[in-house]
Amino acid sequence: MSYPLRKRILVTGGAGFLGSHLCERLLTDGHDVLCIDNFFTGTKDNIAHLLDNPYFELLRHDVTFPLYVEVDEIYNLACPASPIHYQVDPVQTTKTSVHGAINMLGLAKRLKAKIFQASTSEVYGDPAIHPQPEHYWGNVNPIGPRSCYDEGKRCAETLFFDYRRQHGLRVKVARIFNTYGPRMHPNDGRVVSNFIVQALRGEPITLYGDGTQTRSFCYVDDLIEGFVRLMDSPDSFTGPVNMGNPGEFTMIELAEIVRDLTGSSSPLVYKTLPTDDPKHRQPDIRTARSAFGWEPTVPLQVGLKPTIEYFEQLLRQRL
Ligand code: NAD
Ligand code: UDP
Ligand code: UDP
Repeated sequence: MSYPLRKRILVTGGAGFLGSHLCERLLTDGHDVLCIDNFFTGTKDNIAHLLDNPYFELLRHDVTFPLYVEVDEIYNLACPASPIHYQVDPVQTTKTSVHGAINMLGLAKRLKAKIFQASTSEVYGDPAIHPQPEHYWGNVNPIGPRSCYDEGKRCAETLFFDYRRQHGLRVKVARIFNTYGPRMHPNDGRVVSNFIVQALRGEPITLYGDGTQTRSFCYVDDLIEGFVRLMDSPDSFTGPVNMGNPGEFTMIELAEIVRDLTGSSSPLVYKTLPTDDPKHRQPDIRTARSAFGWEPTVPLQVGLKPTIEYFEQLLRQRL
């Protein structure tokens, strides 16, 4: 069959932070979007503004169960992403990554649909080389508190490549690095949301460890542009491909930028570093640049502004 007018696109985890931005983008591009979510960390608020669109459909569904629908492309994003959330029920986290991948790959196989996997920089664990190119195999603890997520995502990648080798599936695997923007969770313990909420409330900004560890932060619009370009890349290009912003900041630098942009005088306080917390993380994005001409365009100081506005609004609503 050919679908000249609108592609029917499934987004799993579509009511989450990234998923809701992706649904929005795909609708803007003129596609027919089926969003499925079990609302574990996602919320209807993230997609309420899309519900009136006749080309948007929402289905409450858990990806660990089979799903029989008819679509042309699948973006598999369903999985809690922050340690606080994925450690609530670590067995369910592994099931979501592994059983979820099997079900979505089974669906893609039946439909001969192209399928995208939201993998993660966490597959590199606490990396021994810096920045991390895709051919680096990682340094992952298989039995620690982060393993349900890291190993679940690694196994999902294995499944994607085995479905390609065994069944000829068209797969696209993105390894996403820390991303921020409006609709992040206010209470998920991530550094960007924590620092902004703390700064806006005038509470102390909590630096874990000595605050010299580094991260690279990608604005959500840049990332979603990368997803769409990856999905549209030639079938011969499968990834895995790093997606993130290579700009690298220490947590102390981030705290200072957030204090500056919010005009806050919150003090900085130091807390214990969580187990297995990676010291450095920075994407090597040469593959994305050469394969589909993608690189982020939004600097941290620029992307933080709409993110801070989002949190200001959220905090006002909750008062
Ligand atoms: P999120 O928690 O906001 O979104 C995940 C969504 O999946 C939520 O809406 C949640 O309710 C849903 N979900 C969870 N388990 C499910 C299940 N079993 N069945 C159906 N839906 C389920 O997180 P996010 O930041 O939007 O992350 C989206 C994807 O991107 C995840 O797979 C995550 O691992 C990956 N990722 C995100 C980042 C980042 O910086 N945000 C970095 C690396 C990878
Ligand atoms: N599956 C699904 N929707 C489909 C086709 C398959 O959810 O349209 C699920 C089904 O639960 C199956 C899994 O995907 O167990 C893997 O499918 P596959 O065809 O690869 O394997 P099998 O059916 O042989 O287990
Ligand atoms: N972090 C911090 N204070 C916070 C939350 C996080 O200093 O309030 C640190 C955390 O220890 C880590 C970095 O910020 O070194 C990024 O943490 P996050 O959980 O956002 O992402 P990840 O560790 O998955 O990259």
